[in-house]
Amino acid sequence: MNEKLMIIKEFRTRKNEDGTRRASCLIQNDGHDTEIWFEVSGLPQNKEIESADAFFAPCLLLALKFNSQVVFEVPISKCMAYQAADLAYVFGTQLGLNRRLKVEAPHPIAVHRRANGAITGFSAGVDSWFSLKQNFIECNLPGKKLTHLLVNDVGANSGKKKKQQVLRQAHVIAKEFKLGMISVNSNMSEVLQMDFQKTHTARNTSVAHLLTSISGMFYYSSTDTYDDSGVFPTYDMAYADTIILPLLSTDAITLRSTGSAYSRAEKTREILDIPQIGERLDVCVHHGHAGTKINCGVCWKCCRTELTLEAFGALDKFEPVFDLEAYGRRRSRYIQEISASRKPTEREAFDLARQAGLAGPALFHQAQWTGIRAVRRLKSVVKSALPRGQQRR
Ligand SMILES: [Zn+2]
Repeated sequence: MNEKLMIIKEFRTRKNEDGTRRASCLIQNDGHDTEIWFEVSGLPQNKEIESADAFFAPCLLLALKFNSQVVFEVPISKCMAYQAADLAYVFGTQLGLNRRLKVEAPHPIAVHRRANGAITGFSAGVDSWFSLKQNFIECNLPGKKLTHLLVNDVGANSGKKKKQQVLRQAHVIAKEFKLGMISVNSNMSEVLQMDFQKTHTARNTSVAHLLTSISGMFYYSSTDTYDDSGVFPTYDMAYADTIILPLLSTDAITLRSTGSAYSRAEKTREILDIPQIGERLDVCVHHGHAGTKINCGVCWKCCRTELTLEAFGALDKFEPVFDLEAYGRRRSRYIQEISASRKPTEREAFDLARQAGLAGPALFHQAQWTGIRAVRRLKSVVKSALPRGQQRR
C-alpha cells in the first residue's frame, strides 16, 4: 500500500503589468510546498486562463516519479478527473513506474464553452511545417483551421540563443500567414527534473489548457505513425501520442496528434513545395553550435533530415540553412550508424537512401560498423589495462 501523498493546491491566476498572464499551483510533497507556474504572452486583453487543467499532466508525472498518491484540490475539469486513472496507467507504463497510482480530484468543475480557434506548437522543424501545411495552408474548415502558433518553453530547447531563434522565427511565420502568436514559459523543467524525451507530450500539451479562451483545438505534431503507436516502456513518450491526446482532451479543447498518418520521410517530401522552405527549416538539436547556418549539419537530427532530402534530390535547395560541408564529412559514418538502427525513423531514412543509390546494402554497413566498434572496444580495453599516467593518448 502506497502511503505517500502529494497534494496540488492553491490555484492562482493574475495579469502581470506587461499584459502576460500567470497561473500557478503549489505542490505539497513530503512536508514541502513547491510552486509550479506558467506565464502566457499573446492572449487578448479580455481573455483569461480558465482552469487548472494545465497542471494535471505535469503533476501526475511528478507523483509517478515519487510514487505518491496525488490529490488535485485545484479546479480541474470533470473530463480530466474522469480520465485520471487511464492517464496514470499510460504514463506509468511508459516510464516504467507505478501505473496503478491513486489519483483523486474531489472538486472537478464543469466546462461547457468551446472557443473557435485552433493552435499548434511551432518550432520550424519538419513536423511543424507539415502541421502548418495540413492544418492551415490546405485546410478551410472553420474550427479546424489554425488561428494561432505557439512556442513553448517547457524544456525542449536548453540554450538561450536557440530559444530566441525559435521564437523569432515563429513570430515571422505567424505574421506572414496572419496567425496569432502565443508564447508560454514555465518552471516545469526545474520542478520535474525528468528526461524531456520521456515526458514531452505531457509537458507540451499541458500548455493547451491555458489557451481554452481562444482555442478549442490543439494540434500536436507527431513523431511516429499510427503503425508504431502503443503503450510500453520507452525512451520517447511520442509512441503513445495518439492514445494520450484523447485522454488529455476535455469539453473545452480537443487535443489531436497531427501527421500520424505520414512517416517522417513522407512529411519531409510534403513540405518541399512550401515557398522559401529551403531558407527556413530548423531541425537542429545541437543547440550550442557556433556555425553561421541555423542547422549544424552533423547532429543526429540534421543528418537524418539531410540524408532524406538528399534521397529526394532536394538537398541543394536547403544549402542556406544546413552546413553541408560538415554533413559531407560526417555522412558516410552516419549511414553506417543507422544501418543497424531499430528506430523506425532511422530505418526509413536508411532504406530511402539505399533505394536512391546513396548507400550500399545494410549488411555491408553493419559489418563495417561492427568492425569499427570492435576496434574502439579493443582500444578501450588496452587503455584501461595501462598504468595510470599512460592512459592518455
Ligand atoms: Zn544539427
